[in-house]
Parts: sequence; structure tokens; C-alpha cells
Amino acid sequence: MATVTGTPAIGRLGGKNAIVTGAAGGIGLETSILFLREGANVLMVDISEPALAMAISKARSMAPHVTGSVTTMKCDVTKEEDVQAAVESLDPFGGVDIMFNNAGIMHADDADAVDTPEKVWDLTHDINVKGVWFGCKHAILSLRRHKKTRASIINTASVVALVGSATPQLAYTASKGAVLAMTRELAIVHAREGYRFNSLCPAPLNTPLLQNWLGDDQAKRHRREVHFPTGRFGEAIEQAQAVLFLASDESNFVNGTDFTVDGGMTKAYVTPEGPPTPAPI
Ligand code: NAD
Repeated sequence: MATVTGTPAIGRLGGKNAIVTGAAGGIGLETSILFLREGANVLMVDISEPALAMAISKARSMAPHVTGSVTTMKCDVTKEEDVQAAVESLDPFGGVDIMFNNAGIMHADDADAVDTPEKVWDLTHDINVKGVWFGCKHAILSLRRHKKTRASIINTASVVALVGSATPQLAYTASKGAVLAMTRELAIVHAREGYRFNSLCPAPLNTPLLQNWLGDDQAKRHRREVHFPTGRFGEAIEQAQAVLFLASDESNFVNGTDFTVDGGMTKAYVTPEGPPTPAPI
């Protein structure tokens, strides 16, 4: 565990305690840095301790004038005791206000209904679905313990839960659909306690998760990017900015949404030629 302590709270999340799962890379890391810059006290958790060590160094260098504090803790979201320990570690500091259940995997052997190995299905659902449930459960218990009447929980889903994937990855797609359904129900059930639940639905973006999946196949990457209305994949920081909005009080009346950050991808009718080339200026 490592800690950086800052000065009194200011910013869009000033004084709030946030937990980010899957914080050692990609969306989780960029979000942790933004949260920190906006005055939150951030607990970054991840299954990978070496990656967390590098992540906290990056957070320190990217948010040098922090107003909150940043701490790391090893946590496997498939283990309830790990998630519980992470959430309860904030009890002496007033408990959690913002929970970003973001850890997720897309397994290399994920395939179609016929070829997806059962162990890949189970592992994907353990991390992507059960991990989110544990995060929501222990956040709710903490919020009640601390008698909080306002909180934001954000769960990372994917555009594949909205439009399906032409590239078979059935376990991943099903798991992200479950995140949407779970989040909607939580949003309704806990609305009168003041706890908001929203899903984040990112389109493919440049993170290790996507790079591992695409490998070094530049042609495969190009074939996919060209079908984006924007002609490019997204970036983790673009997701993090949306998460910051959902976490902050600026989104107080936003509850139960499938908050989609996709450059218009899910609105596009894709022709074999791809989207039109912009006219020269
Ligand atoms: P990433 O691989 O960069 O980061 C995921 C992090 O989760 C890693 O640091 C990893 O160590 C951690 N993790 C994996 N298993 C864990 C476990 N059991 N317990 C705790 N931590 C664990 O990926 P990313 O692209 O930043 O993905 C973040 C989320 O966004 C995931 O839920 C992913 O499904 C989703 N997503 C990603 C994309 C994309 O194209 N990258 C698109 C849509 C949705």
C-alpha cells in the first residue's frame, strides 16, 4: 500500500472518497488521475501489484498539485473479501462516496456460442459481473453505515451490450449486458436513498485490453477504425472525462443510464465502404 497526501479539498470532487477498480491501467488509471486532480481522495485497486506501483507513480506525476490523497491496494474483484476490505479501509475516513466498478477482461479465447470454452465464460463473468456486484454491494453497505444520502456508483459496460459484436466474443458481450441490467435495477431500487447508479458504455479505445485483443495486426486495426464515424478509436481520457461527470454532483439527476461514449459508433449505419470521407476545406 502506498499513499500521497495532499492539502485541503477543492475541485469538482473535493472532499469525496472514491474507489476505482482496475485502476492500474487504461480507463481506471486515467479516471484515478482525473478524480485526484478534482480533489477526491482516491483508492486505486487492481489485481496486479506491480502495475499498481507504476500507476501510482504516473498518478503522482500527472497530478502533482493534488488536493486529495491517493492510495493503492491489491484487490481481486472476484474475491468478496478483497472488495470488502478495500471498501472498509475507507471507514476511518468517512466511507466511500464514489465507486467506479471498472475492472474487466476480454479473454483471448472468447469466441462464439460453439467455441467459447466454459472456463473462459466463467472467468469473464466472475470478473465482469460478479466483481461489479461485489463492488455495488459493499459500496451500498458502506453508504448505509455512514448514513450517506448522496453517492455515485459507475459500472463499466461496453457498446457490445447495446449493439452486439460482429466479432464473436459471446462471454464478454453477455457479461456486459448483465452489467447494464444490474445497474438499471440498482438505480431504481436505491434511488430514494440518494445513491445513483450508471453504466459507462465505451466503444473500442486504445488501452492494453484492446491492444492485447488486436495484437500486432495493423490491417485488422485499420479495418475496424475506418468504420468509426470519427475514423479512430477512442482514448481512455475521453472515457475518464465522462466518468468524472457521472461521479460529480453535476450529474445529480442522471440515474440508471447506459452512458455511451463512442464517437457516434452505435448510431452509425455501416456500409462496406465505411463512413464518407470528409470534404476538403
Ligand atoms: P485494461 O486492461 O487497460 O485495464 C483493466 C484493468 O483491470 C487492468 O489493470 C487489470 O489488471 C485489472 N483487472 C483484471 N482483472 C481484475 C480482477 N480480477 N480484479 C481487479 N482488477 C482486475 O482495460 P481497459 O480498456 O481500461 O478496460 C476497463 C474496462 O473498460 C473493462 O471493464 C473493459 O471491459 C471496458 N471496456 C474496454 C474497452 C476497450 O476497447 N478498451 C471497450 C469497452 C469497454
